Amino acid sequence: MDSSVQSRSAGKREPCKGCNDQYDVKISEAKIALLVELASRSRPAVEDAEYERRLSICADCPGLQHGTTCRYCGCLVQVRAKLVESTCPFPYEPRWT
Ligand code: SF4
Repeated sequence: MDSSVQSRSAGKREPCKGCNDQYDVKISEAKIALLVELASRSRPAVEDAEYERRLSICADCPGLQHGTTCRYCGCLVQVRAKLVESTCPFPYEPRWT
């Protein structure tokens, strides 16, 4: 049995990766740009103005974590906002309308 399974089975709780300095949950701008580019190669992308509009809404949203991640869907908002098919998953009241 590996150590992570042993610690879980022993009742120990592992720390949240977002709250622990041992892990780096931040993603570089270069990597985000690459992921946006890769995602928009195979799916329709929004115009720049709509992309910036969506990201500015995310920037003011309490659901944005670490400047990159939506707490409601787990997506990188820079990637999600780029795709035409995407919607905002904010509970009961999508913010990108
Ligand atoms: S809930 Fe919507 S506005 Fe908020 S971070 Fe997620 S995608 Fe952006």
